[in-house]
Amino acid sequence: MSGYPVQNPSPGAKWIKHLTQNRLGTFTGGHFADVNLTSILFTHRLDDENHVKLQVWSAPELSKPSFEEAMKQKFKPAKKGDSFGPSWTNHWWKVSVSIPSYWQQYERVQFEFDPGCEAMIFTPEGVPLQGITGGFGGDRRVDYVIPKEAVKKGSLDFVIESSCNGMFGVPWNGDTIAPPDMNRYFSLASADLVVPNQEAWRLMWDFATLQEIVDTVPGNTPLQNQALTVANEIMNIFDNNEPNSVEQARKAAEKVFGEGWDQKGEKIYKEGPERPLVWGIGHCHIDTAWLWPYRVTQQKVARSWSTQVDLMERYPEHRFTCSQAQQYKWLEKLYPPLFDRVKEKINSGQFHLVGGSWVENDSNMPSGEALSRQFIFGQRFFQSRFGKRCDTAWLPDSFGLTGALPQLIRLADMKYFFTQKLSWNNINTFPHSTFNWVGIDGTQVLCHMTPVDTYTAQATVGDVNKALTNHKNLESNDTALLVFGNGDGGGGPLSKMLENLRRIRATTNNHRELPPVVMGRSVEDFFDDVAKNSNQGKTLPNWHGELYLEFHRGTYTSHGSIKNGNRKSEVLLRDIEHVATLASFTGKDYTYPKDKIDVCWEKVLLNQFHDVLPGSAIGMVYEDAEKLYAEVAKDGKALLEEAFGAILPRSIPVVPENLAKMRSPGELVAVNTTFFPRRDVVKVPLTGGAAQFQSQVIQTARDGTGYALMACEERSNVAVCKGMYADSRPVSVFTNGSGHFVLRNSSIQLTISNGRISSLYDVQLERELIPSGETGGLVIFEDRPNYWDAWDVEIHHLEKRKPLEFANISVTAEGPLRGSVTSEFKYGQSTISVTISLDAIAATTKPGSRSMFTFDANVDWHQRHEFLKFEMPLDIHSDTATYETQFGYVQRPTHKNTTWDSAKFEVCGHKYADLSEFGYGVALLSESKYGFSCLGNVLRISLLRGATAPDAEQDQGKHEFSWAVMPHAGHFLESDVPLAGYLFNSPLHVRYVPRECKSLLDSMRPPFAVEGARNVFLETIKRGEDDDFSSSSSADSPKTIVLRLYEAFGGHAKAKLRIAGAVPVKEAYITNLLEDAGEKVAVASRKDGSEDAVVQLEFHGFEVKTVKLVIGSGGDAPVRSVESWVNVEKP
Ligand SMILES: [Zn+2]
Repeated sequence: MSGYPVQNPSPGAKWIKHLTQNRLGTFTGGHFADVNLTSILFTHRLDDENHVKLQVWSAPELSKPSFEEAMKQKFKPAKKGDSFGPSWTNHWWKVSVSIPSYWQQYERVQFEFDPGCEAMIFTPEGVPLQGITGGFGGDRRVDYVIPKEAVKKGSLDFVIESSCNGMFGVPWNGDTIAPPDMNRYFSLASADLVVPNQEAWRLMWDFATLQEIVDTVPGNTPLQNQALTVANEIMNIFDNNEPNSVEQARKAAEKVFGEGWDQKGEKIYKEGPERPLVWGIGHCHIDTAWLWPYRVTQQKVARSWSTQVDLMERYPEHRFTCSQAQQYKWLEKLYPPLFDRVKEKINSGQFHLVGGSWVENDSNMPSGEALSRQFIFGQRFFQSRFGKRCDTAWLPDSFGLTGALPQLIRLADMKYFFTQKLSWNNINTFPHSTFNWVGIDGTQVLCHMTPVDTYTAQATVGDVNKALTNHKNLESNDTALLVFGNGDGGGGPLSKMLENLRRIRATTNNHRELPPVVMGRSVEDFFDDVAKNSNQGKTLPNWHGELYLEFHRGTYTSHGSIKNGNRKSEVLLRDIEHVATLASFTGKDYTYPKDKIDVCWEKVLLNQFHDVLPGSAIGMVYEDAEKLYAEVAKDGKALLEEAFGAILPRSIPVVPENLAKMRSPGELVAVNTTFFPRRDVVKVPLTGGAAQFQSQVIQTARDGTGYALMACEERSNVAVCKGMYADSRPVSVFTNGSGHFVLRNSSIQLTISNGRISSLYDVQLERELIPSGETGGLVIFEDRPNYWDAWDVEIHHLEKRKPLEFANISVTAEGPLRGSVTSEFKYGQSTISVTISLDAIAATTKPGSRSMFTFDANVDWHQRHEFLKFEMPLDIHSDTATYETQFGYVQRPTHKNTTWDSAKFEVCGHKYADLSEFGYGVALLSESKYGFSCLGNVLRISLLRGATAPDAEQDQGKHEFSWAVMPHAGHFLESDVPLAGYLFNSPLHVRYVPRECKSLLDSMRPPFAVEGARNVFLETIKRGEDDDFSSSSSADSPKTIVLRLYEAFGGHAKAKLRIAGAVPVKEAYITNLLEDAGEKVAVASRKDGSEDAVVQLEFHGFEVKTVKLVIGSGGDAPVRSVESWVNVEKP
């Protein structure tokens, strides 16, 4: 027995900590790779022709043949080192490997395939096995584990498809957001049969975890020092010539991880602290298109998901969650065997559905109805394929989140919400991690923004630690989600991440310096736990209203054609569903074209993906997106025409190509697809068969067409031509011939002087609306954001402002019905033409409504990094301006009191933006632009940008768009601005009806009307999602009509939904968006002698209501044969 010695001849064990810490960096790779751990990671490696035989076939151009098509082609011999390309091409490899029999002794044999780009391995029968990510990034994944049976047999055949793009496409010069290099070639760096030294790999993972602990655990703690001591000891034990040293080194690591930890496998998560704080969930954020087109995403999905299904076999604790029904649908169609494997994993509870939406959509710009459809199409798809819905809405990467979302999420049968993007705010730090998000109508969802600040975490010690150290409200909740895995074709979690998490958990089972991480649970479990531990959210903080992203403010404007395609498609689909619903009850020959309408919707919903609609994708994506919008326009027009044909037989649209078909005498009418009475000035052709309309027009135009005044009265849905009304306001145009123009009627007046709008004048109130000395008009800002070109307009753009002058102005319509002036001028390389018009009617039929000025622009845009806006300085004072959002509006500051106010210098709006004070206001209306601002008293609409990354040609070329300036007496809340914005986006459908069909018109009236509440808008009319439209559907199968209404001003309402007698309503229900059973409401008959029915509806501010009407066909229903919507008055 020796005790503490008396003499000490040694120098002592003092270390220099930072040198030891730095030493750890030399244990793998780098300068000592030939002698350090890296030198023994592989026991054998073979790449000769006797062991690896390769054949290749390159698909022509950008084609993407299926497995079956590819297998029919002629393959030619290939070898390691061969180069292939260019960018975006696909190459198919047939691989035959011969495995030496003595390799059976080893734990594992792998095939290592590194094409430098993305690839996927298939069985010879075409079943996808796993993805490959070549190259040397952190997402590298090049190994395919050869099955044991094949090693035993000594040979294996398989097929690989490689595609010439990386995880982030093929950016030029390697700058992620640079436009793609279209001519990149890749070379096959590796096609080797290898035996990995599994124990050496495990030591590498041990060491990596220790090193992360050393680098991450803050300061001088026992765990940090122990990890460093042990890592250093491992380096001292290791000898690359002594195989046993690996085992000894691993033994040393048990001092941190615990004895025998590795043998416990996934059971390590069952030991240690009972309450997990960090919940790990595997994920792969696959952008549905971004730096690559949709067709490449389809491959990324298959590669990533097959890899995850494979990983689940080896790591039973692994759970993987993925959103976007569209990606599942692609998988089902293009990779059916893999879809079946995914389905198995969904059923076994390892693969989790999340999000409930069609794609991870942008949430700023889609309309309220489109956002609803994202959820309806998403949830219905999940339900139909997997028998379940999602509980958690999932938009981690969307560029700001509208305050309309909480209500829509709840109405889509979900209650939780996950996001992350606000950690990118470039001005203020968002104050909460876990909170109740309360929307504009007061509805809440339980929201978590992971404190890890990423949805592509690497599952490092740092990530796990950050989940708590960066948590913003630990006082009310102490758990966090760790969403880990490489995104975008990086394939999701890597096995090294799952290995690391096991080691981290093993560490926390013995130490208290890291938060315990748990695996094997779901996102839903996480939220359930939060709800339970916060007394159903009562102890959590709230965030009210929108989650405005203080970043990427240019995305409301970038790529004008996409914004235009989105808005026009949304309106077209609303009209189709409305008219088709009416038509589906007119008789025998028309069937509601649900499938075709759904196909159109799916295209629109797809393009609302959060890098497509915002304009932040490469040019190739916009070629695809515009093609989809063109298909929606073409197919949609045909669908609408068929439906019109059913309700107004033999009528045709009054358009130039139909002039010859209007020879016989007929009526000029217009169908109003909104539920508001209206008056419109409509331009009609007067040549060919349309010459008969000469008597209907009030004013002829210079191009041989004419202007007619069409009115659709209350309780009608057809507008007919009228003469000037007694209350019309004949328009006059004055000019002094030298740059001074005045457009005027008895309501308002606008003056252009020296190319600028020098006066906007309310004639009735004798009130000037432009402050003295200021002018309105077009304006250019220098637009050079700090990095994210297509995404960002930065606050400093406001510092370089250049007003443009309307030049070459001429009078193009003199009144009395319409007065217009047109200015056409050059700016830089661009040509800008703007026609400003004033009509002899009010903006709406609301008493007191003023007229408005419309601006129709035709721009051939060739500027880059310049931002075109239109601005109106107003003599109106208010701290807030009002912008339309989905199913309501949002108010934002006009000042810069705080940094939160300053951040909102460019904001998103839909159909209107308004600046009002007591007594008066002015709104800007928009039909395809979404960017606005109101800084001080200057209201602006953003028109065109010209970013050059990631699309070098963004917005170059021709654009047509319109906006309007709408003054109104009374504050916004007293105004008709929302109504005017609605009508501005919903033009009348002008049609010719042959005289013999005129009788149809006399009794035509809308089947539905909202009475008693001007703040309730009827947005959507459609047939029920569950109605049966197949030819085999029996007469008894339920027929339903679904209406969606919302409160548009932010207050309560008691509205009467009036249903025309022609609609034999049997029952009515208030349902959620998914049209689930719902709450039955009474259908009363009207006591005014009509046969109409009435349903009472109560709303609170911004409430969205879905009403499902069951249409009777027998039994206790009021039996009526619905011959036609248009003969209701007949006996
Ligand atoms: Zn994304």
